Formats: sequence, structure tokens, C-alpha cells
Amino acid sequence: MLPEAVLKQAAEEMLNYGDSGMSVMEMSHRSKVYDDIIKTAEADLRDLLSIPDNYKVLFVQGGASSVFAMVPLNLMTKNGKADYVITGQWSKKAFSEAQKYGNPRKVASSEDAVFNYIPKLDKSMFDPEADYVHITSNNTIYGTKYNELPDTGDVPIVTDMSSCILSEPVDVSKYGMIYFGAQKNVGPAGVTIIIIREDLIGNAMDITPTMFNLETHAKNDSLYNTPPCYSIYVCGLVFKYLKSIGGIEKMYELNQKKAKILYDFLDRSEMFRGTVVKEDRSLMNVPFVTDDEELNAKFIKEATAAGFVNLKGHRTVGGMRASIYNAMPIEGVQALVDFMKKFEAENK
Ligand SMILES: *Cc1c(COP(=O)(O)O)cnc(C)c1O
Repeated sequence: MLPEAVLKQAAEEMLNYGDSGMSVMEMSHRSKVYDDIIKTAEADLRDLLSIPDNYKVLFVQGGASSVFAMVPLNLMTKNGKADYVITGQWSKKAFSEAQKYGNPRKVASSEDAVFNYIPKLDKSMFDPEADYVHITSNNTIYGTKYNELPDTGDVPIVTDMSSCILSEPVDVSKYGMIYFGAQKNVGPAGVTIIIIREDLIGNAMDITPTMFNLETHAKNDSLYNTPPCYSIYVCGLVFKYLKSIGGIEKMYELNQKKAKILYDFLDRSEMFRGTVVKEDRSLMNVPFVTDDEELNAKFIKEATAAGFVNLKGHRTVGGMRASIYNAMPIEGVQALVDFMKKFEAENK
């Protein structure tokens, strides 16, 4: 979902942005008016996340899936080693991409329990010679998240925050690199955002395609080639919107309230239960099941008919998954819980 206020503004500005006489879709990315749009978007994101000055913000294309390759190509270049923590499909994909370019190592995995927990990590598990440690902060499919960052010593942490960015405060200075596709919690598909410590840029492997070299984008303020202009513009509107409601702290408060409504119900229900270890529960993605496959199917069918869409869980978990990203209002979560209560009463 996107905030309605943002969609309305985009609609109002669709034919004529400001006094430019044209749509953002029609502008040259080299024009003064577009330059203001991309610079303002970056400045607002920096504000929201208090991004320190020694970090670059890059707007690229290709999705988080392309960044899975950019990370090793740009960073696995000093010792050719990296440590990966495997907490779901996305970290598995990131790991296998890294295997093409060097010697990444799987330090821990929760695959033994269908990724329903975050492995316990301590400093001794990490290789001090690794060029970076890669984690996935929020596991979209499995509904887990890190509540504590592993201590990796001096080895920079690289994290995929595609499904949790802007949902809660982040101390950017604790990371070497944060990346996310925009489409889950920020804006429309098409733009991928990378926040990276400056000293980590500039050591890419020789084989790195120009467009996958982070230095290309850093040196050209994300305007080496045509960026996804319209997506960046809508992301900018979302950043402004978040600032107007009180920033990430306020968003976090709302997200905690939303998640609590759903988790409290799951903990009380005799029919539905959450699939994840309690201490590692995600604020954004809530997988749940009944103990009966047929009942799961019936629930999804009736929920869809009642207007609750995208509730089918990933095939590896089965059951259901509610994604309650930033723009989902509290009333939306409450309505789902009311529907689940009714379903439970009717199907005892
Ligand atoms: C959706 C998702 C991806 C894939 O993102 P694309 O932008 O489609 O490549 C990667 N990582 C996480 C955590 C995701 O949720």
C-alpha cells in the first residue's frame, strides 16, 4: 500500500508538476526541475534516517535482486571472503549470487526450522578476515526480524532491508551498507536504494559491469544514466509524508500497535497461530496457520471475497501471511482480526 495522501498528490500533479507545464514522467532527468526532485528526495531520506555525512545514498535499478550481485562485486574484494547469515529465501539468493564471485561462507542458518527464528550469533562465529557480513533484517516470507545486530567486530554489516526500511528507527552508522527495493515499504517498483559508507566504494572487481559498480552511481549523483524518475518522485512524496506525520519514531509507534493487535489475537485464538518464535517476530509480515490445510484454504477464499487480499502464505510455510507495511492503517489490521474472529466462531 501507499499512503492515500501520496497517491492523491501524485494524481493532482500528474499532468502538470509545479509550474513546469509537464508531467514528471515527461521530464528530462537532466532538467533543473527534476534535479530538485531527486535532491529533495535524497535530503528527506537523509533527514528521516539521520544518515551520517560519510554515507552515500544511491538510487539504482534492478531491484534488491541485482544488489545481491553488486554486494560481492563491489565489496568482496579485499580478502575475497564474506560471511552470510541465512534466514530465508532472500538471504539464500544473496548467498548464491556471492558464490559466483568468491568464497562466501554460511555462518548460520535457520533453515532447519523452516526459517521460523533468527539464529543466535556471537562474535566468535564470524571471520575477522571477511570483507563483510551479510544479513537480511526482515524476512518477508517467513516473518522474522533481527531485534539485535550481531557483533561482527570491525567487519562491516551489509543488510537487505527491502521489507522493513522506514518501519522503525535504524542507526545507519552501525552498518557498512543498507539496501532495499522501494516497492514493499517506500514507493512504486523500479527504484532500489543503497545507503553505503563512502570508504567502501571504489574497490569493485575489474569484471564488474559499469552499471553494477557503485562508484559509477556515487560519482554521478545517481544520474550516470536515466534513473527511474517517476518512482524516485513518488518515493520523495512518501518521505515528505512520513516527515509530516512525525517521522520514523511515529511510524514505529503505529507499526508496533498494528502488529500487537494481530499477534495478541493469534496468541489467544484456538484456531489460528503464528508460525514464528515470539522473540523474533516481524512488525511487517505476519505468517499464521490453522492446523488444518482445508481450513486454511477456506479462510483464504472467504477472506479474499471479503476484500482481504494477498493473504496466501509462501508455499514453503503454507497457510497465511498478512503484510502490514507502513501504509496499512490500524483499521485495516483491526478489520482483519474481526474477520478472523468471525471465521473462528463460524468454523469451530
Ligand atoms: C522482495 C524482496 C527482495 C526482492 O526484491 P526485488 O526488488 O524484487 O529484487 C529481496 N529481499 C527482500 C528482503 C525482499 O522482501
